[in-house]
Parts: sequence; structure tokens; C-alpha cells
Amino acid sequence: MNLVLIAGDGIGPETMRAVEAVLQALSSRFGLQLNPIHGSAGRESLLRHGITVTSELLAKVREADGLVLGPMATYEFRDESKGEINPSKFFRKQLDLFANIRPARTYPGAPARVGAFDLVVVRENTEGFYADRNVESGGSEMLITPDVVVSLRRITRHCCERIARAAFELAVTRRNRLTLVHKANVLKLGDGMFLDACRAAARAYPSVQVDEVIVDAMMAHLVREPQRFDVIVTTNMFGDILSDLTAELSGSLGLGGSLNAGAQHAMGQAAHGSAPDIAGRDIANPLSLILSAGMLLRWHGRRRGAQAFLDAAACLDKVVADAIAAGEATRDIGGTFGTHAAGQAVVHRIQRAPLSEAAIPRAP
Ligand code: NAD
Repeated sequence: MNLVLIAGDGIGPETMRAVEAVLQALSSRFGLQLNPIHGSAGRESLLRHGITVTSELLAKVREADGLVLGPMATYEFRDESKGEINPSKFFRKQLDLFANIRPARTYPGAPARVGAFDLVVVRENTEGFYADRNVESGGSEMLITPDVVVSLRRITRHCCERIARAAFELAVTRRNRLTLVHKANVLKLGDGMFLDACRAAARAYPSVQVDEVIVDAMMAHLVREPQRFDVIVTTNMFGDILSDLTAELSGSLGLGGSLNAGAQHAMGQAAHGSAPDIAGRDIANPLSLILSAGMLLRWHGRRRGAQAFLDAAACLDKVVADAIAAGEATRDIGGTFGTHAAGQAVVHRIQRAPLSEAAIPRAP
């Protein structure tokens, strides 16, 4: 498997080092023949190439079997005409990675803020309120006068339909429950269309129990009773916000793994940002990016029918849970390990893990 690895900004390089060691360990243990291809994007690329992400890098990613993208200092990238492109949106848009899958589950041994739960947020990833990606060219945020800004939100039936299908497909592999999260009480046309598309998709999945919750109330329900939810599907910005909440409720944003998936390509990427407040101090939790890489291996295994990748992904989920239970974890989830040591703990467990997936309880 040819895998492009881009470390990114802030805590990106230190967490990506842990990811690479974990991937190497999985590759040796399961015979994956992983071939890492290093790329640079974000601040480093801006300094070196005058642009945060190059077309050569995009070509490399298109040819590869997957990408693991480290966090980016996107807030600093303000002017695309000066090469300051948000690499995260760039790959999502260029590779049409329309489904952002963000699981959140609690782990024995990590602080459970609201009791044990296990859910997945499915977030539309290519339109909505995101001004830098919802138009063909330029941006959809306009300064009308020095004191007036208009931001446009794009919702299309096509994008609603495909994210709805992705959510139902996931729900039937889990507990057959899907919650549609929306603001159709106010955004009657856009979120109305989103709801219509989800309700229409529901007809093809009669085994899935569907409910609908307005996004503001959803925040309260999640804090009060996250156990009630299985798969949650929603539009782009709501999913972005909601999944940071679910990651933190599961123990830490540092557990927030995610996959950006399209029909042809996929990108593992932690849910969080570059965390400048803790960068370079060996305290960031590497598990979010490690779990994201695991999701990418599972995506590749399913796509290619390659059992070794499915076994490796299952093994990774298991050893991460075991490491957390044993306290081999960073301080955000109650451990005493640094970033490097937490990554090495996972590596050592992979080296001792059984090879057959059948011997491993399957993670959600
Ligand atoms: P952030 O997600 O980087 O950090 C929020 C909080 O969570 C901070 O207290 C941070 O220390 C903590 N945190 C994040 N990841 C952690 C980890 N792995 N282990 C332990 N703690 C962790 O949000 P921010 O500070 O608002 O944003 C910083 C930069 O990241 C901004 O430039 C923002 O635009 C960018 N950003 C990028 C992405 C992305 O690349 N996908 C996503 C969100 C934000």
C-alpha cells in the first residue's frame, strides 16, 4: 500500500512520528508492505514552495492508495492569492471526500465524562457553510460594506443523498439506529432538503430505526444521554462542531480519529487542529491520528478485499484500547506518558498481538 504521510503543523510532526512507527509495526506484523511517501503541506510548504499545498503533492496523493494528513494551522492561512490554501479543504474538495466519519467511544481506563457510549458522527464534507469550498472559484463570504459580511451556505440534493446513503450503510453494520441532526425549523429550505433526502434514503433501509433531532437540542441530549445514539448524520458545520463535543465527551479531543472518504480516495485525519498551546512539548495525544490511520487501513482492506488490512485495523483498535486500560496513555486521558512513549506502547502491543482477526474482538 502506497501511503502519503503529511505531518502538518503544531502537534502534527510529533504525532505523525508515532503514527509512522505504528504503521511500520502493523506492516511487519501483518505483511502489509506499506510504502510511506512523505509529503509536506501547511506552514513548511508555504516557506519552501510559497504555497501551503502543491499540485505535485496532489498528483502523488491521487496515485497513492491513501493519505494520512496531520493537523494544519488553518487559521493562519488567510489569503489564497498568497498561496495560503487550507490543505484540509484542498484534499477534501479535489478528491471529493464527501463523507467525514468521526467515531467517538469511551474506553475503560480513560475518564468517561458522561458514562460509557459508542457512536459515530457522519458529517457532510464538501459544502454547507464552508466558504472556501462550496463555490467553484473564489469564496462564498463577501464584504458588502466595511461593516457588512454575507456568508452563503450551499446545500445540494446530490450531496444530501450521498451522505444519507453513507450514514445508512454504516448504521446497518452497527446497531441499526440513525439520528438525523438538522436545523430545519429555521433553515427550512437547506436543512429541509437534507431531511427530505435522508427520509427518502430510509426507505431502502427498513431495518434502521430513524429519529430526528434539532441541532441545538442535540447538544443537550449528547451531554445528558450519549448512550441513546448510534450513528448521527448531519450537514458540514453542525457535524464539525458536534464531533468535537463527542470526542471530548469520550475522554479527549485527542481520541478523535476520523476518515474523510469518497468513492475513489480516502484520507485519515484527526478531528482536532494543530493545538499550538501544547505543540513541541511531547504531551499531545497521538491516538487520534493513530486511530485515523487505522480507519484508512480498514477502508483500503474493504475496498481491495484485503483481509490482512482488516486484521491490522482490528488489531490496532484492540491494542489501543488495551494500552489505555493499562494507563499507557497521555495526560489528557489520565496517563503519564508523553506522545512518543504512548505511540511506542501501541507499537510494543502490536509486536505481541495475535495475527488472526478471529482471535480479536471486533471494534465498532
Ligand atoms: P485544536 O483542535 O487545535 O485544539 C483545541 C484544544 O484541544 C486545545 O486545548 C488543544 O491542546 C487540545 N488538543 C487538540 N488535539 C489534542 C491532542 N491530540 N492531544 C491533546 N490535546 C489536544 O483547536 P484550536 O486551538 O482552536 O486550533 C488550532 C489551529 O488548528 C487553528 O489554526 C485552526 O484553524 C486549526 N484547525 C485545523 C483543523 C484541521 O487541520 N483539520 C481542525 C481544527 C482546527
